[in-house]
Amino acid sequence: MSGTAGGQSTGKRLRQPIVVVLGHVDHGKTTLLDRIRGTAVTAKEPGLITQHVGASVVPASVIEKLAEPLKKLIPFKLIIPGLLFIDTPGHELFTNLRRRGGSVADFAILVVDINEGFQPQTYESIEILKQRRVPFIVAANKIDKIPGWKPNPNTPFVISHRKQPQWVQEELERRLWDNVIAKLYEVGFQADRFDRVKDFTRTVAVIPISAKTGEGIAELLAVLAGLAQRYLQNRLRFAEGPARGVILELREQPGLGTAADVIIYDGVLRRGDLIVTGGLEGPVITRVRALLMPKPLQEIRVAKRELEPVDEVYAAAGVRVVAPGIENAVAGAPIYVATSEEEAKQLAEKVRREIEALRIKTDAE
Ligand code: GDP
Repeated sequence: MSGTAGGQSTGKRLRQPIVVVLGHVDHGKTTLLDRIRGTAVTAKEPGLITQHVGASVVPASVIEKLAEPLKKLIPFKLIIPGLLFIDTPGHELFTNLRRRGGSVADFAILVVDINEGFQPQTYESIEILKQRRVPFIVAANKIDKIPGWKPNPNTPFVISHRKQPQWVQEELERRLWDNVIAKLYEVGFQADRFDRVKDFTRTVAVIPISAKTGEGIAELLAVLAGLAQRYLQNRLRFAEGPARGVILELREQPGLGTAADVIIYDGVLRRGDLIVTGGLEGPVITRVRALLMPKPLQEIRVAKRELEPVDEVYAAAGVRVVAPGIENAVAGAPIYVATSEEEAKQLAEKVRREIEALRIKTDAE
């Protein structure tokens, strides 16, 4: 089953970082996510991308395989099991990923069209990432549109770049600087092309890519995975305890009423678990009647994957939760597993306060 610990239940296990994609409309967020979901096909490892509800996991094996030609540049062995991408890009859904003191998202990719540069939603995205304290890298997209660029499909950026004539390399450099790096400086971020960054804690890494041709995707995933496992280990340490998550969206599940699409960022969620979540009318205490996950398939078919019931899911995961009364919950509400009725009451109070804070914040935004 997708999302299980697969026997690695020691205290040292790290979960997948949860990654969101933000940026201005038409700069290529959706194309990038499609491309990332297709990477297992490119890496000739079909069936390895596990589809979740509202999210997709790119396993470490696929990232390592893609980064193989980059060994000299990015020498690392992955200890995270992969990356979990939230399927819906943009800040609308991102706002529902709230978690006390920040965001459920561990990392973000800010997509900027290298030819068009910063646009209003680019600035907005940076503001939101700053507010929620989410670290990010920048994908400088659409390098294939630079005049004279000769695409080398599904090739790492550094390799494709080497094959371009000098005047094209210079044009890329100019656009990268003027439209992306200089703009990041203007809003207070030191930034540089990823292969020139010496200290990733101070400098935002910018990765030139083409979501259309697949150039640079290897570096994008490798840098993301490398940074996350290096700097977020505490945050990513998996605890085999009761699940904690957030409601991404409420949905009608034919024949089962309303269900909640939930991102689990910690612990284990099981069928029958006592859960506490929140609505505008107050906390909701209920029991999980069913957990639904997409059926694993050998083929990468993203849309309309059939869901099937599972007994448990491990963080990080996206799962559809069916539970009586969950229709009274709201998107963005926390969801916690309680180990007793007593604890459920305490958690209900905590959820009430969190929803209250969330409402005040939402009104202010
Ligand atoms: P979103 O609004 O940010 O999700 O942008 P989309 O992914 O829908 O892309 C907007 C348009 O840009 C579409 O027509 C894409 O085909 C095109 N596009 C996205 N990425 C690239 C790229 O790397 N190169 C080129 N040439 N076009 C791209």
